[in-house]
Amino acid sequence: MRLFRYAAAALIALAACSKPAVEAPKEEKAAPAEPKVDALRLYVLDCGHIDVSDMGIFDRGGAYDGQKRSLVDTCYLVRHPSGDLLWDAGLPDAIHDAPDGVVNPPFSLTMPKTLRGQLERLGVPPDYVEYFSISHSHFDHLGNANLFKNSTFVANEEEREHMFRAEARADAEAFAAYSDLEASKKVTFSDSYDMFGDGKVIIISMPGHTPGHSVLLVNLEHSGPILLTGDLYHLAPARANRTVPSFNTSAEETLASMDKFEELAKASGARVIIQHEAADFENLPRAPAYLD
Ligand SMILES: [Zn+2]
Repeated sequence: MRLFRYAAAALIALAACSKPAVEAPKEEKAAPAEPKVDALRLYVLDCGHIDVSDMGIFDRGGAYDGQKRSLVDTCYLVRHPSGDLLWDAGLPDAIHDAPDGVVNPPFSLTMPKTLRGQLERLGVPPDYVEYFSISHSHFDHLGNANLFKNSTFVANEEEREHMFRAEARADAEAFAAYSDLEASKKVTFSDSYDMFGDGKVIIISMPGHTPGHSVLLVNLEHSGPILLTGDLYHLAPARANRTVPSFNTSAEETLASMDKFEELAKASGARVIIQHEAADFENLPRAPAYLD
């Protein structure tokens, strides 16, 4: 998707230009890693804000043409007694250094907090995160991917092929945002992957937005099951209206994935969280608070 490449290129340029001459004080102080947890926890992290001046591309049917929307960009730290998983890596932390953010029509991107800072505050800095996975390989989910090069990259095999295909590689600036993952330890899957082998954290392929787009099911003891949508839906009305963005790789696969998702949501009774929906973000506890 060309728009995403432009945005990614602008971000890389920003990262290159914004290095301060003198090392700026760290936004938030690093803490030693918190010892392992004894029960499953889900932390919701603020990974940036995306103001869209024209939502047209988000509905192939044209229902959003000319409309403005504000999207949140969220990341999730899943802490399990057997290890920590980061789900999605948001916008690049470099945007935090630009006071007015980065404008790249139709997107205006801002980053009030860095992902690194939020993880450090939780006592789980990027180097301590054992597993990294993504809903899909667009720039707003891979912004800080290289921070997790020492993690095991858990990826849908088609998505991994898609992000390392020749065409993606040829787009050098966009590719640079996540290129370090290529050498990372990896686990790949096709239909689904039970992260810790106990049915509590399951990545499930729901392609269509991209070839290997996936969602995450987290079965919490007290909060119950939670389903993170990735970008199967971008906004709450998109779920009701089965809205398919014009830039999805397959409309047919998207609609089939929506059917699969809704069956799973119904069967599990899960609370559904649309990752870009501000209303869903507003209703979640903010780190350091968490769901368990
Ligand atoms: Zn997205």
